[in-house]
Amino acid sequence: MTLVEPLLRSSVASMFNNEQVRADFPILKLKIDDKQLIYFDNAASSQMPKVVMDRMLRYQTMEHANINRAVHYLSETATAEYEKSRHKIKNFINANEDREIIFTSGTTDAINLVAHGYGRKFINSGDEIILTALEHHSNIVPWQMLAEENGVKIRVVPINDAGELLIEEYKKLFNKNTKLVSVTHVSNAIGTINPIKQMIKYAHTQDVPVLVDGAQAAPHMKIDVRELDCDFYTFSGHKLCGPTGIGVLYGKANQLNCMKPFKGGGDMITSVTFEKTTFNTIPHKFEAGTPPIAAAIGFGAAIDYLSSIDLSIIEEYEQNLINYATEKINTIPGTQIIGSAAEKVAVLSFSIKGIHPHDIGTLLNEEGIAVRTGHHCAQPVMQHFKVPATTRASFSFYNNISEIDALIAGIQKVQKVFL
Ligand code: PMP
Repeated sequence: MTLVEPLLRSSVASMFNNEQVRADFPILKLKIDDKQLIYFDNAASSQMPKVVMDRMLRYQTMEHANINRAVHYLSETATAEYEKSRHKIKNFINANEDREIIFTSGTTDAINLVAHGYGRKFINSGDEIILTALEHHSNIVPWQMLAEENGVKIRVVPINDAGELLIEEYKKLFNKNTKLVSVTHVSNAIGTINPIKQMIKYAHTQDVPVLVDGAQAAPHMKIDVRELDCDFYTFSGHKLCGPTGIGVLYGKANQLNCMKPFKGGGDMITSVTFEKTTFNTIPHKFEAGTPPIAAAIGFGAAIDYLSSIDLSIIEEYEQNLINYATEKINTIPGTQIIGSAAEKVAVLSFSIKGIHPHDIGTLLNEEGIAVRTGHHCAQPVMQHFKVPATTRASFSFYNNISEIDALIAGIQKVQKVFL
């Protein structure tokens, strides 16, 4: 028995029934070529509990109409349910007001919104933006596009060999031209949890606002935007047991009020003539056109579901999973974990000497195990570790120890085939 096993049997296990939770997710019963599915691709997209599917079905069956535009029963119901979701998300991250929650199509869309609405208004030639070496491409490319257009300079916080940001180097990057910090809360590629509270505090001493990409943090830990004091926080529904096509930009009301709209169209205006358009107030100013109403309502149901389990229990349970997996994989010769930050979420990125990640992924798939192989849309992280790709097993609260044992056995089988 390992050190971690007793923990899983004791404290968290008594508060959290993994068997019961698994029963909420129909897809976990799936067999892939007679092998029980083991889903370890949660960082790319999590699975959805039946209550969320049922909620969206109820909306489509009983409540569907376009929102904001009519006085009839269905439109009023759909509008009310859509706004209820906004309110649930506001509570989920402890924002001040519902209007600080902007529905977007996901994290990528939310970051692009800030790059347009804030960046193209306030960040100009000669100005600088601070990013980090741990960013997902969606927190790099929108800023590079702005940099090319407006002559903005991007500066990058380096990482050490554990995959942790060098905070002293971060502080050195600030100067009078720094206009924004945009940093991921958690690295999708290697799981590092960044010290964002400390980073935000420092940026604010320099009068620089901070955007936090929370796509990989919100599914694993309690987020409190007021405590963090971030100016912007983004995340995606599909990584939080919700549907695809919906995500959130949280922004402090004063920041959002000053920004330019991103997309133009219906609902984001108060009046339109061919001479001049005046824009609606937040959040509507940033929600042009018909939004994904069913997805927004489904996202609200996912938030209810996660809140009923409690994020702090999820966090503790998942920490035990990653500790167990780390301990086990370290006993297999020829494997190397990429990213060993002291603070990390349940993401196990690894390589096996002499075997390409694509082959590892393909053989694990034959065991029913879904992992992701590749650069994980974080090529600068791969460049730092001098690997073209890794194999990534990312865990969720519905995963368990016996699934990790199957992964470990799968890795040993892969080695037998190739070495
Ligand atoms: N940021 C991070 C850290 C991510 O992991 C992802 C998704 N892999 C994104 C941004 C983009 O999220 P989405 O594709 O939902 O827009």
